Amino acid sequence: MKLFSRIESLGHEQVVVCHDPASKLRAIIAIHDTTLGPSLGGTRLLPYENEDDALTDVLRLSRGMTYKAACAGLSLGGGKAVIIADPKQKTEQMFRAFGRFIDSLGGRYITAEDMNTNVTNMDHIRLETRYVTGVSTGLGGSGDPSIMTAKGIFYGIQEAVNHRLGKRDLNGVKISLQGVGSVGKHLCKMLYEKGVKLFVTDIDDKKLKEIHSLYNATIVAEKDFYSLDVDLYAPCARGATLNSNNIQILKAKIVAGCANNQLEDEDKHSKMLKDMKILYAPDYVINAGGLINVANEITGYDPEKVENEVARIANTLDSIFNESDKQGVSTHEAAKRFAENRIQNVANLKNMTKFASSAIGNLKK
Ligand code: NAD
Repeated sequence: MKLFSRIESLGHEQVVVCHDPASKLRAIIAIHDTTLGPSLGGTRLLPYENEDDALTDVLRLSRGMTYKAACAGLSLGGGKAVIIADPKQKTEQMFRAFGRFIDSLGGRYITAEDMNTNVTNMDHIRLETRYVTGVSTGLGGSGDPSIMTAKGIFYGIQEAVNHRLGKRDLNGVKISLQGVGSVGKHLCKMLYEKGVKLFVTDIDDKKLKEIHSLYNATIVAEKDFYSLDVDLYAPCARGATLNSNNIQILKAKIVAGCANNQLEDEDKHSKMLKDMKILYAPDYVINAGGLINVANEITGYDPEKVENEVARIANTLDSIFNESDKQGVSTHEAAKRFAENRIQNVANLKNMTKFASSAIGNLKK
């Protein structure tokens, strides 16, 4: 019963446990909400310490995908999958077995890349099911979504700077960026080209040196990072980097980056940021560029349409920032209400359509 009460408290529709002994696949698929459309979310592969950690992760991440798709204006619900495995031991057989489980859901869940899964893994899933995005361009996919995620973050940063600092021009703005990986490196380039002064940290020295030489970025040790005197902090590495301790020493006036689940405790820490007059761009709103990119594979990929949809992230953030000011709530709360309103409106519309067709049916009798 513990499982059902957990699922109920987060509002999930379905959780599927997948086991294939031949390939040693152990995976969980969580479908959070399909009101807006089929659930879409990546497959994360990690050697979770125990099953409970894997379940917690997939439940939390799939719910986040519902909010992300709703805020991005997509006709998609929220879902996510985790594979419990060592990244060094992933095999084609494992992903094909996983593809068969996805196929058995008949389109209620569509997958894509996430941590430790890549285009090749998606291509292997594609051999067993059509319910997969982020496949290689040869298979009709759009390739690596990081560049579109970075573009969305860039537009979002411009909007946040405008809202909090009262200017659109990023020239001379000081930004600390944590994690110069796939998204971070593209973002550094875009910011540098607009005259931003960059401060970067990463656990990978080689990547840091490259970013330093390409974009004149100052390398900073992680221990000194949060107290840096900058305008904006961009978390672009892992989740939960912001907690009760380091929020207190932040000098940045804005937090806006691509990492998922940036706040250790979303409700508590988003309020704390608001009280400190630090503008937080909710992660699931600002980092939707990658999702928008793969979602467009389903309807037929049109690069211009993707660019326009990603640029609209700035408009959504603008509405959320304004609502947060107007209602006196955190930006996280404002974004949650924005997503929940859209889902409720669509649910009401569906109920109305159902009622109308049954009423017409009765009239015919
Ligand atoms: P990535 O693995 O390519 O890059 C992450 C970078 O962070 C790496 O350079 C890594 O060395 C660094 N890093 C890891 N731990 C660190 C630490 N403790 N301190 C400093 N640096 C550290 O990942 P990515 O695709 O660039 O994604 C970054 C974040 O954005 C992740 O949280 C991911 O879930 C999220 N995200 C990515 C996309 C996308 O399109 N790739 C979309 C939405 C959200």
